[in-house]
Amino acid sequence: MALLPLGQAFEHYARTLAPLSVQRVPLELALGSVLAESPKARIALPRFTQSAMDGYAVRAADGVASRQLIGTAAAGSPAGVHVGPGQAVRILTGGMLPDGADAVARQEIVERDGHGICLRQAVRVGDEVRREGEELLAGTVLAHAGQRVTSGLVAALAMAGVDTLDVHRRPRIAVLVTGDEVLRVGHPLGPGQIYDANGPLLRSWFVEHGYGEPVVAYVPDDEAALEEALSAALDSADLVVTSGGVSVGDRDYVPAVADRLGVRASFWKVAQKPGKPLWYGVRDGKALLGMPGNPAAVLVCLVVHARAVLSHLEGETAVQPVWSQGVLTESMDADAQRDRLVRMRLDLGDGTARLHLLPKQESHMLSNLASAHVLAWLPARDEAFKAGERVAWVPI
Ligand code: AMP
Ligand code: MG
Repeated sequence: MALLPLGQAFEHYARTLAPLSVQRVPLELALGSVLAESPKARIALPRFTQSAMDGYAVRAADGVASRQLIGTAAAGSPAGVHVGPGQAVRILTGGMLPDGADAVARQEIVERDGHGICLRQAVRVGDEVRREGEELLAGTVLAHAGQRVTSGLVAALAMAGVDTLDVHRRPRIAVLVTGDEVLRVGHPLGPGQIYDANGPLLRSWFVEHGYGEPVVAYVPDDEAALEEALSAALDSADLVVTSGGVSVGDRDYVPAVADRLGVRASFWKVAQKPGKPLWYGVRDGKALLGMPGNPAAVLVCLVVHARAVLSHLEGETAVQPVWSQGVLTESMDADAQRDRLVRMRLDLGDGTARLHLLPKQESHMLSNLASAHVLAWLPARDEAFKAGERVAWVPI
Protein backbone atom coordinates (compact mmCIF):
# COMPACT_ATOMS: atom_id res chain seq x y z
CA MET A 1 0.00 0.00 0.00
CA ALA A 2 1.32 3.47 -0.88
CA LEU A 3 2.35 5.67 2.02
CA LEU A 4 0.11 8.66 2.71
CA PRO A 5 1.96 11.99 2.40
CA LEU A 6 2.10 13.64 5.83
CA GLY A 7 0.22 16.76 4.70
CA GLN A 8 -2.68 14.59 3.57
CA ALA A 9 -3.05 13.09 7.02
CA PHE A 10 -4.00 16.57 8.26
CA GLU A 11 -6.66 16.79 5.54
CA HIS A 12 -8.13 13.48 6.69
CA TYR A 13 -8.47 14.82 10.25
CA ALA A 14 -10.14 18.02 9.03
CA ARG A 15 -12.58 16.04 6.89
CA THR A 16 -13.54 13.34 9.37
CA LEU A 17 -13.79 15.15 12.71
CA ALA A 18 -16.25 17.65 14.17
CA PRO A 19 -16.09 19.66 17.41
CA LEU A 20 -17.53 18.04 20.54
CA SER A 21 -20.75 19.33 22.08
CA VAL A 22 -21.02 22.78 23.65
CA GLN A 23 -21.49 23.28 27.37
CA ARG A 24 -21.84 26.34 29.57
CA VAL A 25 -19.25 26.40 32.35
CA PRO A 26 -18.16 28.80 35.09
CA LEU A 27 -15.36 31.04 33.84
CA GLU A 28 -12.57 29.48 35.85
CA LEU A 29 -13.45 25.96 34.77
CA ALA A 30 -13.10 27.06 31.14
CA LEU A 31 -9.31 27.30 31.33
CA GLY A 32 -7.78 25.26 28.49
CA SER A 33 -11.09 24.73 26.68
CA VAL A 34 -11.92 26.15 23.27
CA LEU A 35 -14.59 28.85 23.07
CA ALA A 36 -17.87 28.03 21.33
CA GLU A 37 -19.00 31.67 21.54
CA SER A 38 -17.40 35.09 21.19
CA PRO A 39 -17.77 36.55 24.68
CA LYS A 40 -18.54 40.27 25.08
CA ALA A 41 -17.70 42.62 27.93
CA ARG A 42 -20.67 43.08 30.27
CA ILE A 43 -19.36 46.41 31.58
CA ALA A 44 -17.19 49.25 30.33
CA LEU A 45 -13.57 49.29 31.45
CA PRO A 46 -12.71 51.24 33.44
CA ARG A 47 -16.23 51.17 34.77
CA PHE A 48 -15.89 54.62 36.34
CA THR A 49 -13.47 57.51 36.01
CA GLN A 50 -10.74 57.03 38.57
CA SER A 51 -7.28 58.03 39.67
CA ALA A 52 -4.19 56.40 38.14
CA MET A 53 -1.97 57.56 41.01
CA ASP A 54 -1.90 58.35 44.70
CA GLY A 55 -2.41 62.13 44.94
CA TYR A 56 -5.13 64.76 44.99
CA ALA A 57 -8.23 65.18 42.86
CA VAL A 58 -8.32 68.80 41.73
CA ARG A 59 -9.73 71.21 39.18
CA ALA A 60 -6.97 71.92 36.65
CA ALA A 61 -8.23 75.50 36.14
CA ASP A 62 -7.17 76.37 39.71
CA GLY A 63 -3.53 76.30 38.49
CA VAL A 64 -1.02 76.31 41.33
CA ALA A 65 -3.26 78.17 43.80
CA SER A 66 -3.60 76.50 47.21
CA ARG A 67 -6.64 74.30 47.75
CA GLN A 68 -8.69 73.24 50.71
CA LEU A 69 -8.91 69.47 51.36
CA ILE A 70 -12.54 68.37 51.70
CA GLY A 71 -12.40 64.56 51.75
CA THR A 72 -10.74 61.29 50.79
CA ALA A 73 -11.43 58.86 47.93
CA ALA A 74 -9.77 55.47 48.36
CA ALA A 75 -10.20 52.48 46.04
CA GLY A 76 -13.65 51.12 46.82
CA SER A 77 -14.59 54.16 49.00
CA PRO A 78 -15.79 57.14 46.96
CA ALA A 79 -15.44 60.54 48.65
CA GLY A 80 -19.11 61.43 48.03
CA VAL A 81 -18.36 65.15 47.77
CA HIS A 82 -18.33 67.72 44.97
CA VAL A 83 -15.01 69.42 44.36
CA GLY A 84 -15.58 73.15 43.86
CA PRO A 85 -13.08 75.86 42.87
CA GLY A 86 -10.21 76.03 45.38
CA GLN A 87 -10.99 72.57 46.73
CA ALA A 88 -9.28 69.18 46.50
CA VAL A 89 -9.85 65.59 47.62
CA ARG A 90 -7.14 63.21 48.77
CA ILE A 91 -7.33 60.30 46.28
CA LEU A 92 -5.63 56.91 46.07
CA THR A 93 -4.95 54.77 43.00
CA GLY A 94 -8.23 53.31 41.75
CA GLY A 95 -10.30 55.78 43.80
CA MET A 96 -13.36 57.22 42.02
CA LEU A 97 -12.73 60.72 40.75
CA PRO A 98 -15.15 62.98 42.67
CA ASP A 99 -17.64 65.19 40.82
CA GLY A 100 -16.18 68.53 39.92
CA ALA A 101 -12.57 67.31 39.79
CA ASP A 102 -11.00 66.91 36.35
CA ALA A 103 -7.41 65.91 37.11
CA VAL A 104 -5.22 64.29 39.70
CA ALA A 105 -2.09 65.96 41.03
CA ARG A 106 0.24 63.13 41.90
CA GLN A 107 1.56 63.18 45.43
CA GLU A 108 5.14 63.96 44.28
CA ILE A 109 4.17 67.46 43.03
CA VAL A 110 2.05 68.40 46.03
CA GLU A 111 2.90 70.00 49.35
CA ARG A 112 0.52 69.72 52.25
CA ASP A 113 0.00 72.55 54.69
CA GLY A 114 -2.47 71.81 57.44
CA HIS A 115 -5.93 71.34 55.84
CA GLY A 116 -4.78 72.47 52.43
CA ILE A 117 -2.40 71.64 49.62
CA CYS A 118 -0.20 73.56 47.20
CA LEU A 119 0.85 72.29 43.76
CA ARG A 120 4.48 72.82 42.75
CA GLN A 121 3.36 72.70 39.11
CA ALA A 122 0.02 73.06 37.37
CA VAL A 123 -1.83 70.01 36.01
CA ARG A 124 -3.88 69.65 32.84
CA VAL A 125 -7.40 68.31 32.54
CA GLY A 126 -7.21 64.51 32.49
CA ASP A 127 -3.76 64.19 34.06
CA GLU A 128 -3.38 60.89 35.97
CA VAL A 129 -7.01 60.07 35.31
CA ARG A 130 -8.30 56.76 33.93
CA ARG A 131 -11.43 57.63 32.01
CA GLU A 132 -14.59 55.50 32.14
CA GLY A 133 -14.69 53.28 29.03
CA GLU A 134 -11.26 54.35 27.76
CA GLU A 135 -10.19 50.73 27.36
CA LEU A 136 -13.45 49.26 26.12
CA LEU A 137 -17.22 49.65 26.21
CA ALA A 138 -19.84 47.16 27.38
CA GLY A 139 -20.56 44.84 24.45
CA THR A 140 -17.01 44.81 23.09
CA VAL A 141 -16.07 41.35 21.78
CA LEU A 142 -13.12 40.14 23.86
CA ALA A 143 -12.34 36.81 22.20
CA HIS A 144 -13.58 34.68 19.35
CA ALA A 145 -15.19 31.27 19.05
CA GLY A 146 -12.47 28.76 18.25
CA GLN A 147 -9.94 30.41 20.55
CA ARG A 148 -8.42 28.46 23.45
CA VAL A 149 -9.01 29.92 26.90
CA THR A 150 -5.74 30.99 28.54
CA SER A 151 -5.13 32.33 32.04
CA GLY A 152 -4.81 35.79 30.50
CA LEU A 153 -8.20 35.49 28.81
CA VAL A 154 -9.78 34.23 32.05
CA ALA A 155 -8.50 37.38 33.75
CA ALA A 156 -9.62 39.71 30.96
CA LEU A 157 -13.12 38.19 30.92
CA ALA A 158 -13.46 38.29 34.71
CA MET A 159 -12.56 41.98 34.74
CA ALA A 160 -15.21 42.63 32.11
CA GLY A 161 -17.87 40.84 34.18
CA VAL A 162 -18.11 37.60 32.20
CA ASP A 163 -18.74 34.75 34.63
CA THR A 164 -19.75 31.84 32.39
CA LEU A 165 -18.69 30.68 28.95
CA ASP A 166 -19.89 28.36 26.20
CA VAL A 167 -17.02 26.01 25.42
CA HIS A 168 -16.57 22.72 23.61
CA ARG A 169 -16.41 19.73 25.90
CA ARG A 170 -12.83 18.58 26.53
CA PRO A 171 -12.02 15.30 24.79
CA ARG A 172 -11.90 12.23 27.01
CA ILE A 173 -8.83 10.20 26.17
CA ALA A 174 -8.16 6.49 26.52
CA VAL A 175 -4.75 4.90 26.03
CA LEU A 176 -4.16 1.21 25.33
CA VAL A 177 -0.59 0.02 25.65
CA THR A 178 -0.17 -3.31 23.85
CA GLY A 179 2.68 -5.80 23.96
CA ASP A 180 3.42 -9.01 25.88
CA GLU A 181 6.99 -7.80 26.45
CA VAL A 182 6.00 -4.51 28.05
CA LEU A 183 6.37 -4.14 31.82
CA ARG A 184 5.67 -1.13 33.96
CA VAL A 185 8.77 0.41 35.50
CA GLY A 186 9.37 -0.52 39.14
CA HIS A 187 9.15 -4.28 38.59
CA PRO A 188 12.12 -6.58 37.91
CA LEU A 189 12.47 -7.44 34.22
CA GLY A 190 12.20 -11.05 33.10
CA PRO A 191 13.93 -12.42 29.99
CA GLY A 192 12.86 -10.55 26.84
CA GLN A 193 10.89 -7.96 28.77
CA ILE A 194 11.28 -4.19 28.37
CA TYR A 195 10.11 -1.27 30.42
CA ASP A 196 7.06 0.55 29.14
CA ALA A 197 7.93 3.98 27.77
CA ASN A 198 4.74 4.60 25.79
CA GLY A 199 2.32 4.53 28.72
CA PRO A 200 4.31 7.15 30.66
CA LEU A 201 4.94 9.20 27.50
CA LEU A 202 1.29 9.28 26.45
CA ARG A 203 -0.02 9.89 29.94
CA SER A 204 2.47 12.68 30.69
CA TRP A 205 2.02 14.36 27.32
CA PHE A 206 -1.78 14.57 27.64
CA VAL A 207 -1.52 15.84 31.22
CA GLU A 208 1.19 18.33 30.24
CA HIS A 209 -0.99 19.68 27.45
CA GLY A 210 -3.98 20.22 29.70
CA TYR A 211 -6.15 17.18 28.92
CA GLY A 212 -6.05 15.71 32.41
CA GLU A 213 -5.43 12.07 33.21
CA PRO A 214 -6.21 9.72 30.35
CA VAL A 215 -7.48 6.25 31.16
CA VAL A 216 -4.49 3.96 30.57
CA ALA A 217 -4.90 0.20 30.14
CA TYR A 218 -2.37 -2.52 29.36
CA VAL A 219 -3.35 -5.15 26.84
CA PRO A 220 -1.54 -8.40 26.01
CA ASP A 221 -0.92 -9.43 22.40
CA ASP A 222 -4.17 -11.35 22.28
CA GLU A 223 -6.88 -10.58 19.77
CA ALA A 224 -9.83 -11.17 22.09
CA ALA A 225 -8.27 -9.14 24.90
CA LEU A 226 -7.58 -6.29 22.49
CA GLU A 227 -11.13 -6.39 21.17
CA GLU A 228 -12.56 -6.17 24.66
CA ALA A 229 -10.25 -3.32 25.71
CA LEU A 230 -10.70 -1.35 22.49
CA SER A 231 -14.46 -1.73 22.59
CA ALA A 232 -14.56 -0.36 26.14
CA ALA A 233 -12.20 2.47 25.22
CA LEU A 234 -14.31 3.49 22.21
CA ASP A 235 -17.42 3.52 24.37
CA SER A 236 -15.92 5.83 26.97
CA ALA A 237 -13.49 8.12 25.16
CA ASP A 238 -13.48 10.66 22.32
CA LEU A 239 -9.90 9.89 21.35
CA VAL A 240 -8.44 6.41 21.72
CA VAL A 241 -4.71 5.97 21.29
CA THR A 242 -3.14 2.55 21.06
CA SER A 243 0.58 1.84 21.07
CA GLY A 244 2.06 -1.17 19.32
CA GLY A 245 0.45 -3.94 17.35
CA VAL A 246 -0.23 -1.88 14.24
CA SER A 247 2.47 -3.10 11.85
CA VAL A 248 2.47 -6.25 9.75
CA GLY A 249 3.72 -8.69 12.41
CA ASP A 250 1.80 -11.85 13.29
CA ARG A 251 0.51 -10.26 16.48
CA ASP A 252 -0.34 -6.83 15.13
CA TYR A 253 -4.08 -6.98 15.70
CA VAL A 254 -5.07 -3.31 15.96
CA PRO A 255 -6.25 -2.70 12.35
CA ALA A 256 -8.31 -5.91 12.16
CA VAL A 257 -9.88 -5.44 15.58
CA ALA A 258 -10.66 -1.78 14.91
CA ASP A 259 -12.33 -2.78 11.66
CA ARG A 260 -14.39 -5.44 13.43
CA LEU A 261 -15.55 -2.87 15.99
CA GLY A 262 -16.86 -0.64 13.22
CA VAL A 263 -14.11 1.96 13.18
CA ARG A 264 -13.92 3.33 9.63
CA ALA A 265 -10.30 3.33 8.50
CA SER A 266 -9.17 6.63 7.03
CA PHE A 267 -5.55 5.72 6.43
CA TRP A 268 -2.84 3.26 7.40
CA LYS A 269 0.84 4.09 6.93
CA VAL A 270 2.15 7.61 6.56
CA ALA A 271 5.27 8.72 4.68
CA GLN A 272 7.00 9.80 7.86
CA LYS A 273 10.01 8.60 9.79
CA PRO A 274 9.59 7.52 12.50
CA GLY A 275 5.95 6.53 12.77
CA LYS A 276 5.22 4.98 9.38
CA PRO A 277 2.66 2.36 10.56
CA LEU A 278 0.26 4.99 12.00
CA TRP A 279 -3.39 3.92 11.57
CA TYR A 280 -6.32 6.35 11.80
CA GLY A 281 -10.04 5.82 11.79
CA VAL A 282 -13.32 7.19 13.16
CA ARG A 283 -16.43 5.69 14.73
CA ASP A 284 -19.39 7.92 15.65
CA GLY A 285 -17.22 11.02 15.78
CA LYS A 286 -14.63 9.31 17.96
CA ALA A 287 -11.05 9.09 16.73
CA LEU A 288 -8.75 6.11 16.94
CA LEU A 289 -5.03 6.68 16.43
CA GLY A 290 -3.23 3.36 16.21
CA MET A 291 0.36 4.35 16.94
CA PRO A 292 3.36 2.10 16.43
CA GLY A 293 5.16 0.56 19.39
CA ASN A 294 8.52 2.24 18.99
CA PRO A 295 8.56 5.09 21.49
CA ALA A 296 10.03 7.74 19.17
CA ALA A 297 7.25 6.96 16.72
CA VAL A 298 4.72 7.49 19.52
CA LEU A 299 6.27 10.86 20.25
CA VAL A 300 5.97 11.94 16.61
CA CYS A 301 2.40 10.67 16.39
CA LEU A 302 1.49 12.61 19.53
CA VAL A 303 3.13 15.91 18.63
CA VAL A 304 2.19 15.93 14.97
CA HIS A 305 -1.02 13.86 14.75
CA ALA A 306 -2.77 13.72 18.13
CA ARG A 307 -2.41 17.49 18.38
CA ALA A 308 -4.27 17.94 15.11
CA VAL A 309 -6.98 15.44 16.05
CA LEU A 310 -7.52 17.18 19.40
CA SER A 311 -7.72 20.58 17.71
CA HIS A 312 -10.55 19.37 15.48
CA LEU A 313 -12.38 17.66 18.35
CA GLU A 314 -12.18 20.90 20.31
CA GLY A 315 -13.17 23.23 17.49
CA GLU A 316 -9.93 25.19 17.55
CA THR A 317 -9.68 27.71 14.70
CA ALA A 318 -5.88 27.71 14.63
CA VAL A 319 -5.49 23.98 14.08
CA GLN A 320 -2.45 22.64 15.88
CA PRO A 321 0.34 21.97 15.49
CA VAL A 322 1.40 25.38 14.20
CA TRP A 323 4.80 25.12 12.55
CA SER A 324 7.55 27.73 12.90
CA GLN A 325 10.64 28.19 10.76
CA GLY A 326 14.19 27.56 11.91
CA VAL A 327 17.67 27.14 10.54
CA LEU A 328 19.66 23.90 10.56
CA THR A 329 23.04 24.32 12.23
CA GLU A 330 24.59 21.34 10.44
CA SER A 331 24.03 19.18 7.40
CA MET A 332 21.64 16.25 7.75
CA ASP A 333 20.70 13.21 5.74
CA ALA A 334 17.36 13.26 3.96
CA ASP A 335 15.14 10.22 3.40
CA ALA A 336 14.13 9.76 -0.21
CA GLN A 337 10.70 8.25 0.53
CA ARG A 338 9.59 9.60 3.90
CA ASP A 339 9.53 12.97 5.65
CA ARG A 340 11.86 12.90 8.63
CA LEU A 341 10.68 14.22 11.99
CA VAL A 342 13.82 14.83 13.94
CA ARG A 343 14.22 15.50 17.63
CA MET A 344 16.29 18.66 18.01
CA ARG A 345 17.48 21.22 20.49
CA LEU A 346 16.20 24.73 19.81
CA ASP A 347 18.36 27.77 20.46
CA LEU A 348 16.58 31.13 20.21
CA GLY A 349 19.30 33.07 22.03
CA ASP A 350 20.28 35.45 19.23
CA GLY A 351 16.76 35.89 17.84
CA THR A 352 17.09 33.23 15.13
CA ALA A 353 15.61 29.77 15.73
CA ARG A 354 18.67 27.55 15.40
CA LEU A 355 18.08 23.81 15.32
CA HIS A 356 20.77 21.56 16.73
CA LEU A 357 20.71 17.90 15.81
CA LEU A 358 20.65 15.46 18.71
CA PRO A 359 22.24 12.02 18.46
CA LYS A 360 20.35 8.71 18.69
CA GLN A 361 17.45 9.36 16.33
CA GLU A 362 16.44 5.73 15.73
CA SER A 363 12.79 5.00 16.36
CA HIS A 364 13.49 2.68 19.32
CA MET A 365 15.62 5.34 21.02
CA LEU A 366 14.26 7.96 23.38
CA SER A 367 17.21 9.08 25.52
CA ASN A 368 17.67 12.33 23.57
CA LEU A 369 14.29 13.53 24.83
CA ALA A 370 16.18 14.53 27.94
CA SER A 371 17.39 17.56 25.95
CA ALA A 372 15.07 17.77 22.92
CA HIS A 373 12.77 20.79 22.56
CA VAL A 374 11.27 20.41 19.10
CA LEU A 375 10.57 18.16 16.15
CA ALA A 376 11.98 19.44 12.87
CA TRP A 377 10.18 18.47 9.65
CA LEU A 378 12.62 17.46 6.91
CA PRO A 379 10.60 16.67 3.77
CA ALA A 380 11.45 13.54 1.77
CA ARG A 381 14.00 14.24 -0.96
CA ASP A 382 17.13 12.82 -2.54
CA GLU A 383 19.77 15.35 -1.59
CA ALA A 384 20.97 15.94 1.96
CA PHE A 385 19.97 19.04 3.93
CA LYS A 386 22.69 21.66 4.24
CA ALA A 387 23.67 23.72 7.27
CA GLY A 388 21.81 27.03 7.08
CA GLU A 389 18.72 25.58 5.34
CA ARG A 390 15.34 26.62 6.71
CA VAL A 391 12.96 23.92 7.91
CA ALA A 392 9.71 23.84 9.88
CA TRP A 393 9.59 22.84 13.53
CA VAL A 394 7.06 22.36 16.33
CA PRO A 395 7.57 22.24 20.07
CA ILE A 396 7.38 18.80 21.62
P1 AMP B 1 5.20 -3.16 17.77
O1 AMP B 1 4.77 -1.96 17.02
O2 AMP B 1 4.20 -3.66 18.73
O3 AMP B 1 5.71 -4.22 16.84
O4 AMP B 1 6.47 -2.69 18.63
C1 AMP B 1 7.59 -2.15 17.99
C2 AMP B 1 8.73 -2.02 18.94
O5 AMP B 1 8.39 -1.14 20.00
C3 AMP B 1 9.12 -3.32 19.63
O6 AMP B 1 10.53 -3.36 19.76
C4 AMP B 1 8.44 -3.22 20.98
O7 AMP B 1 9.07 -4.01 21.96
C5 AMP B 1 8.56 -1.76 21.27
N1 AMP B 1 7.53 -1.32 22.17
C6 AMP B 1 6.22 -1.62 22.06
N2 AMP B 1 5.52 -1.08 23.06
C7 AMP B 1 6.41 -0.41 23.83
C8 AMP B 1 6.29 0.36 25.00
N3 AMP B 1 5.10 0.54 25.59
N4 AMP B 1 7.39 0.93 25.53
C9 AMP B 1 8.60 0.75 24.92
N5 AMP B 1 8.78 0.05 23.79
C10 AMP B 1 7.70 -0.54 23.25
MG1 MG C 1 3.91 -5.32 19.82
